[in-house]
This record gives sequence, C-alpha cells and structure tokens, in this order.
Amino acid sequence: MLSILGIKDEELKDIVIKEGYEPYRAQQILDWIYDKAIPDFYSMSNLPKELRNFLSDNFSVLPFEPLSYIRDEDTVKFLFKTKDDLTFESVLIFHHNRVTVCLSSQIGCPIRCKFCATGDSFHRNLTYEEIIGQYIFAKGYIRRDIRGIVFMGMGEPFLNEENVYKTIDTLISKIKISPRHITISTSGIPQGIENLSLRKPNVRLAFSIWTPDEEKRKLLVPLANKYKLDDILKSLRKYVSVTGNRISVEYTLLKGINDSLNDAYKLVKLFSDIPVFFNVILYNPKDRPTEIYRTSIEEAQRFVDLLKSLGKEAYLRISKGLKISGACGQLRSTYERVE
Ligand code: SF4
Repeated sequence: MLSILGIKDEELKDIVIKEGYEPYRAQQILDWIYDKAIPDFYSMSNLPKELRNFLSDNFSVLPFEPLSYIRDEDTVKFLFKTKDDLTFESVLIFHHNRVTVCLSSQIGCPIRCKFCATGDSFHRNLTYEEIIGQYIFAKGYIRRDIRGIVFMGMGEPFLNEENVYKTIDTLISKIKISPRHITISTSGIPQGIENLSLRKPNVRLAFSIWTPDEEKRKLLVPLANKYKLDDILKSLRKYVSVTGNRISVEYTLLKGINDSLNDAYKLVKLFSDIPVFFNVILYNPKDRPTEIYRTSIEEAQRFVDLLKSLGKEAYLRISKGLKISGACGQLRSTYERVE
C-alpha cells in the first residue's frame, strides 16, 4: 500500500476533492500526520468516517512496520521492517529535558567500518518516506515534540543526499524545526560536505574521524582509501568559510588503537586552522566477539583534558544506549541473528 507521506500536498488535495470532500480536508490530514504524529487514519477523529475508510483502504501513513523496541532510562531504540522485508532502526535519546531522534538514512552501510555492526552489510538507501516516517513514528510514540534531529543512525547520509535533503525540507517547512537543531553526521564525503554548505548552510555538520592517522584510518574505514584526510579537511575549511559554523568532530576512542595522548596531539594539529569542538565518545562494544575494546573512563578523561589544555573545546560523551546494545546497527543485527 502506498504511503501517504510520499504524496505532495497538492496531489492530496486533488485526491480529497475527487472523493467528493472539501479541499480543507487535505490540510486536516496533514495536521494529523505532521503536527500530531498520528500514524493511523481511523484515529483522525475530525474526518468523516467514509473518508477515513477510503484513506485506510488505499494508503498507509508509515511505509514500514514497527517490529520491536528496547528502552532504558536514556534511550528507546526502534526496529522497523520495510515492505521488502529488510530491517532498520532509529533511536530516541533523552538528555535532561531534551529529546533527540537519531535517524537512519540507509539499510546497512557501504562504508563498512571495521568496528560497526551496521557496516557488516549494505542493502539500499532508505526512501524519503522511510526517513521522515521514522520521525513521525518516534514523535507519535513519545507523544511530545522532538526538536533535535541527528542523521547519525544507520548509513552515510551523504550517500543518500536527495532523500535526506527532502526530509530536512519537510522537517523545516512542515514541522517547523530549526535547521540549527538538525545535524548531519558524515564519515567524510568531501563533495557531500561542500554540498551541505551550499544547500542547507544552517544545518549543522558532524564529522566522525576515528583516527588522525591516514594509514590507520584506511584500515578502520575502508572508505578512507577513496577520500583522503587532506581532501576532507579542504572541504571542511570550505564549509566553514561558507557557513561560519563550527564543526563537531566525533572521536570514538578505541582502546590501544586511537586513544593515546599522541593521537590527541595529532588531532589538535590536524584541526589547528578549523573551528571545531571535539565530542570524544566511549566505544560501545558490539555484543559479539570483537578485537576492539572500550577505553577506560580515566584514560578517556586524560585524552579530553589534553585536547582542552591544547586550546580545543572537548567533551567526553558516554554513549547513550549502552545498556540496550546501542551502537548503530546492533539491534538490527541482534534481531537478524535471532531470526
Ligand atoms: S560507523 Fe557509520 S559510516 Fe561507519 S559503517 Fe557504521 S554507520 Fe557506516
């Protein structure tokens, strides 16, 4: 069944008129979906019963089926099944009074980072409907506004640019979310970074670097063989000169691999002329045998302190969702193994 999320507003109005209803009914439907996040036509109580029946017989709101969820005190992780029987996930993160949703842009990920469960496979890009549908589902689930959006779920957003930008347009224009509260996180696609500065200069950028060492990076992130750090840094400088925004550099500590104090010195040198702040993250181990381990909090704190003493803003982040097996892709891979 066709998801109504993919139907343009004007087309929806035409459909409603063709069925014999007043044009304002289309706006009522849109309000139920985007304002109230109601993913079911039968609950749209101010629509005539026959119109609700017609919509339910011919369309779905969400283009996927919610399969399961896991929650702890800080996070809720949802698993969805697509019409072509693939699974993907999104995560709600509660921090103080704020709620942020972490959206996926692909099913699996073609970047294939060595330490990431999502990178074990790649199936396809998510459609626009599947991406915006994650937001609507999450908002409907918690029954309150979600004002923070991060494209940090499964996949590399700059490899699915058109659907990600279409989602961002909807978030800004229909749901009235400030572009400053939307962040795209990339593993380092130079053209994507430059495009963002031109297409959505107020949307925030995060770059996951993993290591300041080019050779090591090639081992950890196969994509690094294609996109050199030098090229990425050039695109980051361009991004800053166009937007004036600072960039968040995401740095996940991997024990014995990238967590030495020497790595911290190298990082600061690499970004000496780029306005960044560092989010240093404790690795969230995959729930299966792995060669990669978590750095201790004491060592992580020393790493962060050194970045600060060298003049950079830096924060230590304890990964949300650890108790629910929360590194990207883990819920899905757990589900797939169980199946
Ligand atoms: S860490 Fe991010 S970029 Fe790397 S494989 Fe996982 S989802 Fe893709």
